[in-house]
Amino acid sequence: MSIASNLDSINASLPENVTLVAVSKTKPVADLMEAYETGQRIFGENKIQEMADKWEQMPKDTEWHMIGHVQTNKVRFMAPFVSLIHGVDSLKLLQEINKQALKNNRIIDCLLQIHIAEEETKFGLDENELNLLLSSTEFKEMKNIRILGLMGMATFTEDQNQIKKEFTHLKSIFDSIQTLQTENCELNTISMGMSGDYQLAIACGSTMVRIGSSIFRGR
Ligand SMILES: *Cc1c(COP(=O)(O)O)cnc(C)c1O
Repeated sequence: MSIASNLDSINASLPENVTLVAVSKTKPVADLMEAYETGQRIFGENKIQEMADKWEQMPKDTEWHMIGHVQTNKVRFMAPFVSLIHGVDSLKLLQEINKQALKNNRIIDCLLQIHIAEEETKFGLDENELNLLLSSTEFKEMKNIRILGLMGMATFTEDQNQIKKEFTHLKSIFDSIQTLQTENCELNTISMGMSGDYQLAIACGSTMVRIGSSIFRGR
């Protein structure tokens, strides 16, 4: 199957309110261009340097999403061009993004990553840490970031009930912060679901799926 036909069938299966992030980490620019030519504009990368290299080579109307874990000292390399940072998991990181966004005279959209999986290895805030962050004065004063919603990754397991429980948990946390009224929040995005579990994620309320191997696999 070609990248174009993979994209066609995935797009045909997505409801209108769900955004597709084509996860292109480790893939060559030629593969990204093949996706671009079918109309795909949003690409997800998990390494800042690799994303910056591809940003230089791809057409300028491409949108770049950082989906990996972000080190504070590397934020400045993507601050000029990144469209959405999915994995924000601390106030300290958010402060650095705010600072670099200000330097670039822009507002950077972010998602807060929530730890929903059983595995310790996955990053993210728990519900309590999320509420502390959102209610802090430091957060309320940040003018160069905008929080669009939450991101989460389910446990790597075959157990559909387990995955469903975790996605439902993320959706319920999202619903619980809807009352939040600060100028730097515009909550409309739940980023959850990958190649293996995106249909379940959508059934549980996902509005943004991050799909890599089902688009670019076997090449
Ligand atoms: C790699 C990756 C994906 C895509 O995973 P696939 O199983 O290839 O679809 C999604 N989200 C994150 C955070 C990733 O690192």
